[in-house]
Amino acid sequence: MPSNNPHSKALNDTSNAGEKQITSLEVLLYRMMNRIRQSVELPAILSVTVAEIRGFLETDRVKIYRFDTDGSGEVVAESVNEERLPSLLGQHFPAEDIPSEARELFLLARQRSIVDVAAQQIGLSPVPEAEESIELKHDIRFRAVDSCHVKYLTSMGVQSSLVVPILHREHLWGLLVSHHSLPRQVTEQELQVVQLVADQLSIAIAQAILLEQSRLQAQQEATINRVAKLLHSMTEMQLQQALELTVSALQGAGGRICITPQNPAEKTQLFTTGKQPISAVKDNSSKNEQGEQTEAINSSSSSPVPDLLEKHPSWREWLRMEATVAEGKQVWAVDDLYQAALQSDLAQMFLGAGIRSLLIIGLQYRQHFLGYLSIFRDEIDIETIWARRPDRNDQRHLYPIISFETWRELKRGQAQPWQATEIELAQALASHFAMAIHQYQLYQQVHALNADLQCDIEERKQAEKKISALNAELEQRVHERTAELRRANRRLLQEISERERALRDRKQTQASLERLSRQSELILNSAGEGIYGLNCQGKITFVNPAAARMLGYTVKELINLFMHEIVKHSRPDGIRYFFEDNPIYATLQDGTVQHITDDIFYRRDGSKFPVEYVSTPIREQKTIVGAVVIFKDITERQIIERMKDEFVSVVSHELRTPLTSIRSALGLLARGSLNNQPEKSQRMLEIAFDNTNRLVRLINDILDIERINSGKVTMHKQTCNAADLMIQAVDEMRAMAEKAEIHLELTPVSVELWADPDRIIQTITNLLSNAIKFSPPGSTVWLSVELQQEGEMKKVGDVEENKLITSSSPHLLFQIQDQGRGIPEDKLETIFDRFQQVDASNSRHQGGTGLGLAICRSIIQQHGGKIWAESSLGKGSTFYFTLPIS
Ligand code: ADP
Repeated sequence: MPSNNPHSKALNDTSNAGEKQITSLEVLLYRMMNRIRQSVELPAILSVTVAEIRGFLETDRVKIYRFDTDGSGEVVAESVNEERLPSLLGQHFPAEDIPSEARELFLLARQRSIVDVAAQQIGLSPVPEAEESIELKHDIRFRAVDSCHVKYLTSMGVQSSLVVPILHREHLWGLLVSHHSLPRQVTEQELQVVQLVADQLSIAIAQAILLEQSRLQAQQEATINRVAKLLHSMTEMQLQQALELTVSALQGAGGRICITPQNPAEKTQLFTTGKQPISAVKDNSSKNEQGEQTEAINSSSSSPVPDLLEKHPSWREWLRMEATVAEGKQVWAVDDLYQAALQSDLAQMFLGAGIRSLLIIGLQYRQHFLGYLSIFRDEIDIETIWARRPDRNDQRHLYPIISFETWRELKRGQAQPWQATEIELAQALASHFAMAIHQYQLYQQVHALNADLQCDIEERKQAEKKISALNAELEQRVHERTAELRRANRRLLQEISERERALRDRKQTQASLERLSRQSELILNSAGEGIYGLNCQGKITFVNPAAARMLGYTVKELINLFMHEIVKHSRPDGIRYFFEDNPIYATLQDGTVQHITDDIFYRRDGSKFPVEYVSTPIREQKTIVGAVVIFKDITERQIIERMKDEFVSVVSHELRTPLTSIRSALGLLARGSLNNQPEKSQRMLEIAFDNTNRLVRLINDILDIERINSGKVTMHKQTCNAADLMIQAVDEMRAMAEKAEIHLELTPVSVELWADPDRIIQTITNLLSNAIKFSPPGSTVWLSVELQQEGEMKKVGDVEENKLITSSSPHLLFQIQDQGRGIPEDKLETIFDRFQQVDASNSRHQGGTGLGLAICRSIIQQHGGKIWAESSLGKGSTFYFTLPIS
């Protein structure tokens, strides 16, 4: 209660006298404030403040006590009369010296306390509200002081104390304390002044802290600027220096930057400075445990070569698990490694090097993760001077208040925690590192690209030079080639026109050839002679249809056959040639043209025929490439020739006999040796005359038959009656028959026919003449005729074809039958040939020439009929002939 307080009265007593004093107080206060304001630095402000307050209060000691976060505190400024009280500057006081309840009252009620040790009283005065403050009313309420408190002050040698809280932003920053070794009362004005000073102090502290902050900020910005300047130098990134600066700015003992490669071809880069974790792996120069190549290491420290901690899987795992300073940020602030859940061997790497705190920041620029910036702090020793021993385990603590003997506490191996400002600074620096590294990498890439580009440009220039040289050469070549082509073109045009001309000529030639070929083919096909071509080996290259036909083959069959074997080429005597002796072979060999007659060729059926052939060589450019053989079948010619020969010999023989007789008779007569013998002479003349007649007859017959056969005698055909012709013929022969005593019996049939009557009569008379000649006297010769109708067939004799009469039209069959000597079977046909007689001497004796039957056959054949004979030796013969009825 204020009214009960003696100090309160004392204060009231002085109130009247104090108006003047107030004015001087104001002056004093103004002066104090002015001094305080003149200082910028907090320690100076504090020391000015304590000096001014002690000067104002005239007490033995004025100090400013600043609270630490743990409740303990330190005397940070002091003004002391050391003769009365000891200096406490720099001394720390344990937290329990000012219990938390007291600290709360200081803060919440801004309570001031005034202790009078002698009176065992404590005056407590809350800070008045704003209006009260203006009226300068400071109500002090007194009560009995805590004995403990009294003991505390007494032990310090203090009899009177005044304590005013100093607040900063709703926190109890500290206390402004006045101690006096003698009992002393504190007036309200004094309290008011001290309070005002404390308020001013709060403002000054706030300003000083602000100043400190802005200084720190400026310092950090300066650091950032310096680091940025080092990093963002366009030419060469001073990363090592920037790292050193960063480590020093963050009060690190060491640090490192690990730059992860952006592509597999690059290596991890490591920059280090100061203390580094000691490598657990002794040999770290070749390969790490992932087997990757040695990394590029830049180091300014002499410490052991650091291992690539950043690639250690346990390290990465730990970072992944460890809490970051803020969610989503790759910033790890490890204040004390002893508290971290780092794998022991990794932790040992740091602790072994004396590193206690880690600040690790992932370097990231936009989406690119570039590596880590790590700052290490080593542990430190902290020395604290305590005014009283705070250690509760110490026995002296039981009597804390009794002794204020100072003692020195030394804490070894203490961690240096990371402050938020430091972490911010580190982050800001890390972002510059990240940006710079990224830019540097880009710069490197651009540089590499530029180098490549330069290289490309050089290559391209070279290539362009080459190309232009090649172009020039090419143009020259094109020029030459064009000229060459033009010449060639002219040549070609000339050649083309020549070829066209040649083609026209060739076409004409070809047309001529084709025409010739067709003509040749026509000739070959139509030729009656056999024609074939041989190659040098004697094989058939071509053959005409006539040749094939003659040999009994088709044209196709003969091609490419060995002709010598096919025809079994033989000599006229039938002996076969060897191929080498063959005249055709001679043509193939020496090119001689061979005209051969009478050689023999064989047909396919084995029959043979005589040939005449000419073999002519085929030459191509003076070389014999084959031969052409033209052959013909000469069978008929040979027969004719033989017949001619026979005819000549027969005729000459037939003529010679009568001529010899005539010559002999005439010779006798000419010599006159028969002059005296008239009968013999007569006889000779008769012989000569008979033989002459015979000769005439003979020659007539020969000419007759020749003329009839050669068609020179034309048949004067006319309608005549068969009976008439028969009667006329018999009449002509009647004298001869009578002379020979042959009976002629005629059976005429009156049938009209178309014939030459003289020739038919000649035929019948000749046949009657022969029948009479070769019949014995007294025998009969019959002449008859019969009409044979269409389709009627009369078989005469046995199987001889020419005796088989098949008539498709009606005809007359004449028969002259006798009872004479007959004709041998084998002569029945030959007697129709010229000069053929069964018994020549007898026939000649009969005055025959052997030509009668031949003439008959010619006449009948000219009439389209047939003539033949049948006979039975000794019994007689029958001669038949037919004549068609038109
Ligand atoms: P020739 O002038 O010799 O009679 P022919 O040609 O008339 O000549 O007769 C040829 C031969 O035929 C006769 O020489 C004869 O030997 C034989 N000859 C012809 N007619 C008869 C016949 N009726 N009886 C027997 N022999 C005959």
